[in-house]
Amino acid sequence: MAQAHNLGFPRIGTRRELKFALEDYWKQKTTADELLTSAAALRAQNWHAQADLDLAPVGDFSLYDHVLDMSFTLGHLPERVQGLKGSQLDDYFRVARGRSPADCGCSGVAAGEMTKWFDTNYHYIVPEVAEGTEFSLNSQRLVNQITEARSAGVTPKPVIIGPVTYLWLCKARDGYERLELLERRLLPVYGQLLEQLADLGVDWVQVDEPVLVTELDADWKLAFETAYHQLKGSRTKLLLTTYFGALGENLQQACNLPVAGLHVDAIRGRQEVDAVVDWLPPHKVLSMGVINGRNIWKTDLRAVLEWLAPIHDKLGDRLWVAPSCSLLHVPVDLALETGLDPEIRSWLAFATQKLDELRVLRTALNHGTDAVATQLADNARAIASRRASTRVHNPNVKEQAQAITPELGERQSPYSVRAEKQAAALKLPHYPTTTIGSFPQTTDIRKTRLAYRKQEISHELYVTTMKAEIEHAVREQEKLGLDVLVHGEAERNDMVEYFGEQLEGYLFTRFGWVQSYGSRCVKPPILYGDIQRPGPMTVEWIAYARSLTDKPLKGMLTGPVTILNWSFVRDDQPRRDTAFQLALAIRQEVLDLEAAGVNIIQIDEAALREGLPLRRSQWQDYLDWAVDAFRITANAVSDTTQIHTHMCYSEFNDIIRDIARMDADVITIETSRSAMELLDVFEEFRYPNEIGPGVYDIHSPNIPSREQIVSLMSKAAERVPAERLWVNPDCGLKTRQWEEVVPALENMVAAAKELRQAG
Ligand code: GLN
Ligand code: ZN
Repeated sequence: MAQAHNLGFPRIGTRRELKFALEDYWKQKTTADELLTSAAALRAQNWHAQADLDLAPVGDFSLYDHVLDMSFTLGHLPERVQGLKGSQLDDYFRVARGRSPADCGCSGVAAGEMTKWFDTNYHYIVPEVAEGTEFSLNSQRLVNQITEARSAGVTPKPVIIGPVTYLWLCKARDGYERLELLERRLLPVYGQLLEQLADLGVDWVQVDEPVLVTELDADWKLAFETAYHQLKGSRTKLLLTTYFGALGENLQQACNLPVAGLHVDAIRGRQEVDAVVDWLPPHKVLSMGVINGRNIWKTDLRAVLEWLAPIHDKLGDRLWVAPSCSLLHVPVDLALETGLDPEIRSWLAFATQKLDELRVLRTALNHGTDAVATQLADNARAIASRRASTRVHNPNVKEQAQAITPELGERQSPYSVRAEKQAAALKLPHYPTTTIGSFPQTTDIRKTRLAYRKQEISHELYVTTMKAEIEHAVREQEKLGLDVLVHGEAERNDMVEYFGEQLEGYLFTRFGWVQSYGSRCVKPPILYGDIQRPGPMTVEWIAYARSLTDKPLKGMLTGPVTILNWSFVRDDQPRRDTAFQLALAIRQEVLDLEAAGVNIIQIDEAALREGLPLRRSQWQDYLDWAVDAFRITANAVSDTTQIHTHMCYSEFNDIIRDIARMDADVITIETSRSAMELLDVFEEFRYPNEIGPGVYDIHSPNIPSREQIVSLMSKAAERVPAERLWVNPDCGLKTRQWEEVVPALENMVAAAKELRQAG
């Protein structure tokens, strides 16, 4: 019999129960016992939803982060939390969130660094290693949950992060070579863990090694040999689990490591499934991830069954079916979305529905398609409806996208010519000061937006209130003496949602939450159809702001690549095509703003870098179309209109050429935390256009002093000619208070004045 199993289930609960349980506990509204009870209830629910699978994941649930859980399982805590008073749970949250001195009875604990889990929007706590790092087994969590799972009636398949991926995720201090820990420090502990699991009667262990879908150096490839040969004696069977991409040049190695089974991402690695089937030794299980764990679309079950039939004939019981990766990355249950348009809803599948699909596949494989004829017919209807729907396919949009030519992305003149014209038109001083767009989103602003959303206040009242906020932001900026003002973004809840809500082809869910980290969840909008802009989206607000002041005012838009990367997008056309449709829509907005007299326009691309594929060999292809999409959006304007872009990150080393190709007149970036060193790459590349390196970190409530800012800008001026430098914060100010913003910007403006006098 072909088996069906799952790699991981969302932890947050259908209504984000975990988030609220955590926050109550952190606020000391509940006790540790109450938190643990809520967590156990969520696990029970999840297992209930998976009880009829042949194997259900255990240990995938986490109170905060599964990488942090693995660190605890390996007895691997940062030194700074060792020996503090309190429980293991206290230590856990100390690493997860950091603690002030009052909380820990110590001098304070810094949180572990957080970074993105491969190319997802999930963030994990980076384990820290150094020479002398030791591991010791702490299997209590896993052992308890295996017992729990069994009493919930499931056959447990413990999930652990494999040793090589674990080390790869670690950050080493002082240039230490992480792999030195593998053989003698780390693997013995993995060995003990597997022994314990065998003693508990565990049959299969899911060992996650997603680094196998990335390009590996020789020593990392060797590490796989070392690790799995050393663990070979284990009495449990290991399912070597890879996801988020194709194995590529690691395929043969992955097939041949001495384990009992291999899971492959058959969605992103579809093209290599045949090769895997050929290469896999005859005693091994092949688990095929045929249900997309990274999007929210229904699977075309008939197509999958047709594809699987010959593989099933060949492998028989050795074929397992599963989602491509953990379902952590999709919302929990579509059943809650009662308000969605029924037609569009029929195209969707969240985690719970994806498990239903898995069951249908299993039954069809084992008992023939007749056994699930109704389900297959329903599925086929939904797939056909989506394929043909006029809501998805808009011939006008397709035609416009087809008509895109390279000229669409060309400015009238090169930067040097534009710069002169813009200087003459804008008459800005050297070291012009500006902000990144948003001003504090006060409780009043949030309340008004919410009331309007719930239709508790009229459109007129909403507009007047927002305009008052805009006026307030403009007056404050005038008082501060900033050179280029913004409208402050009071009307925006979120930089993607705001645009998505106004574009045709977008859909918003009520409960479609996905964990981003710990208790934080995001609700990515769903881009389901050809993108069209029914009308201007920002002009009313920005033109109003402009009418209030004689100072130059910068209009604010979100770029196509960021909108794309922060949404669930279509799987029926390449991402590039979707990006271009978004680009055409926002291009219209740019032109409307320009026509309304807004002659500085910022197009934020905060998420451009994070869209980079996992494999470097695919970077250039992505960058090429991503930059093209930006150029199409931005470059229709006349020479005198100044285009800004903003990116709140700091790593440009690998992509500086592409950043330059965007050809924005001004780019503002995050730099304050690195003492301007990351401008080195701009200097080396001789980046030709203007740059606003962020002079203070908006994530911190600290007020930067004038001296600090002057000193940072002086460092910047060593790398970039002063006449091409702007002075601005790292990012938008929406999470700050006015009391913090005003003195910080006062110092920033004073610093710019000092720099001008000195220069
Ligand atoms: N313009 C946006 C703001 O100021 C930019 C946000 C971002 O880069 N994340 O809030
Ligand atoms: Zn930013």
